[in-house]
Amino acid sequence: MARIIPGIRLWAVLVVALVIGACGGDSENTSENADQENTRLKVVTTVSPITSIVENIGGPRISLEGVVPEGVNSHTFEPTPSMAKLMAGADLIIINGLFLEEPTLALAESNKKDDAVILALGDRSVTPDEWQFDFTFPESAGHPNPHLWPDPNLGLRYAELVQDRLAALDPDNAAYYAGNLEIFRGKVEKMDQAIRAAVATVPEGNRKLLTYHDSWAYFAKQYGMEVIGAVQPSNFSQPSVREVAELIDQVKELGLPAVFGSEVFSSDVLEAIASEADAQFIDDLADDDLPGKPGDPGHTYLGLMKQNLTAMIPALGGDASVVAGLDIRNVFDGASGAVYPQ
Ligand SMILES: [Zn+2]
Repeated sequence: MARIIPGIRLWAVLVVALVIGACGGDSENTSENADQENTRLKVVTTVSPITSIVENIGGPRISLEGVVPEGVNSHTFEPTPSMAKLMAGADLIIINGLFLEEPTLALAESNKKDDAVILALGDRSVTPDEWQFDFTFPESAGHPNPHLWPDPNLGLRYAELVQDRLAALDPDNAAYYAGNLEIFRGKVEKMDQAIRAAVATVPEGNRKLLTYHDSWAYFAKQYGMEVIGAVQPSNFSQPSVREVAELIDQVKELGLPAVFGSEVFSSDVLEAIASEADAQFIDDLADDDLPGKPGDPGHTYLGLMKQNLTAMIPALGGDASVVAGLDIRNVFDGASGAVYPQ
């Protein structure tokens, strides 16, 4: 017995020591993670292409959460009251601006911390004299077409503004953000060249877009295409019978081989126009619904552009193969933990 008891005691001491050690380690790790979590800049964004651009610059060194779910109409999106808490915790709130997300902006303004910054990328990327007014966004209503990002050059401008602001708010990581911007710039430049090359293969008379959702104004201007119409009225209702008849005549007259619907908006009307005018109906353009699911390698802003070009160019009689080989993945390896609401 006398020999066993010390053995038991030793065992007991070892177990206690191990338990204490394990607990100590755990609580240390947890507090380290919590520290990291607390020190990471908290960034809230709106639509997914913007979330993706911010993710590319901030990578895992920021805490990032988008609020507009993919597949909803971002133009009429109303934030839920629970998003007030998210806004209240944010250091930086990044929106497109140009009147795209007015209810979300109002929620951000009334709930944000005093020192939190709201960065409206679109407002800072073009001047009012560069605003595009057109079909769904008539000048009489005063709100320009807010879809700047389908032109990747403007997407890059967004990334520059994001890098600038992240570096100012989080100088310790400034070099990291600047490095990511340069890699992103390289990818965008390749995308820009590929789009130019792909558009050049489209017969000149076909470099025209009739779309349902009016999101190609800045893209078209950049790449020498013409948006001949957008079917969706400015109040996001349905177009009138007369407007539809005019569009059918226009497509027939121009001999357009294809018209383009959007994934987010059902477009029976455009489908009818296509069939009346004997044009192909392509229903899968998207301006803020990234391909695949969060975490997929192609679920990125550049992945969205690649998908659109792959749908658009061949339907107009061109060759989009130059787009196929582009690397559209994020600039950093692994997961950033960014939240994309679905
Ligand atoms: Zn849109």
